[in-house]
Amino acid sequence: MKRFIYLDNAATTKTRPEVVDAMMPYFTEFYGNPSSVYEFSNESKKAINRSRETIADAIGAKTNEIYFTAGGTESDNWALAATAEAYQAKGNHIITSKIEHHAVLHTCEYLEKRGFEVTYLDVDENGVIKIDELKKAIRPTTILISIMFANNEIGTIEPVKEIGEIAKEHGIIFHTDAVQAFGHVPINVDEYHIDMMSASGHKLNGPKGIGFLYIRTGIKTRSFMHGGAQERKRRGGTENVPGIVGFGKAVEIAMNTLEERTKKESELRDYLMKRVMAEVPYVRINGHRTNRLSNNVNFAFQFIEGESLLIMLDMDGICGSSGSACTSGSLDPSHVLLAIGLPHEIAHGSLRLTLNSDNTMEEMDYVVESIKKIVEKLRSMSPLYEDFVKRQNR
Ligand SMILES: *Cc1c(COP(=O)(O)O)cnc(C)c1O
Repeated sequence: MKRFIYLDNAATTKTRPEVVDAMMPYFTEFYGNPSSVYEFSNESKKAINRSRETIADAIGAKTNEIYFTAGGTESDNWALAATAEAYQAKGNHIITSKIEHHAVLHTCEYLEKRGFEVTYLDVDENGVIKIDELKKAIRPTTILISIMFANNEIGTIEPVKEIGEIAKEHGIIFHTDAVQAFGHVPINVDEYHIDMMSASGHKLNGPKGIGFLYIRTGIKTRSFMHGGAQERKRRGGTENVPGIVGFGKAVEIAMNTLEERTKKESELRDYLMKRVMAEVPYVRINGHRTNRLSNNVNFAFQFIEGESLLIMLDMDGICGSSGSACTSGSLDPSHVLLAIGLPHEIAHGSLRLTLNSDNTMEEMDYVVESIKKIVEKLRSMSPLYEDFVKRQNR
């Protein structure tokens, strides 16, 4: 019997059955347009309000600070581009990091073409931004700091509170891409001094194509989607009612189960890391050892092509991800692995496994055995490894 073990939860997650159940009536029964005046559309309106409340509560925000979007990418685009435009009179400088998601990095590149100046902060070998460098990068013209809450490839959690404090001290807006962290790490926007925050439904067992941008009261921003008066006139377009309902349900479940889920995930994660480190030679762990997402494991195997490893894991029914080639199909290693200082040849052998609390120890054992077998096989075919062994034995 072929097994199926899904270990790519940083790419997307399974929508929970309870979430689908909560969404269904908003397709088939309460399909009214929330902007319509008749009684029938009230159900849609009320459902949106309930979700907005659940989400606002989850991060210590007010309901009128939550703006629904089509996902993390839109939220990041909105946060950066519209804020840059709204604060142009104050300055044209933005600070971000080298390990951000492409939704942030490519928006920054776009802004650079439009006359903005962007500082891309380095990270240390664990993927943590350097606070000293951040302080040094601040200019009188700095209008925005955008640093992710937790990295999607290596799982490292950034010192968000410190960053928020520094931003606040200097009167600079602080945006954080919390797509990987929301629902996995407790977040309070006041405690962390977050002014804007991006999140996405499908990274926490909710539906795809729905996200939100938190915008603190008082922050100026341009509307991103020009159209109707939805989302306080800042994001036009008929609301994705089923998506919003599903997102709310997913957040409710995520918040109620956060502690037990992350505890179980970190046990599985630590077990997987420990066994692989002990039983496979020439492997390293990428990302911070302890200050990392509870479900993120990222290895770099020497003398291995990550792509080959992925294909062979797939044959064993295991879904993982590699940082060696990005989605564009290029052969360049991921910008994150290069930013933590991995040489190309080691970055190429990387494997990201992102777990879910439904995974079991037995699955982890199966995965370890599979990795051991595949790594040995790939190395036995690698001239580089052969050379290395010869040199070792000399
Ligand atoms: C997945 C992801 C995004 C993009 O979110 P979508 O909802 O897929 O558009 C942005 N940032 C991070 C860190 C992510 O992991």
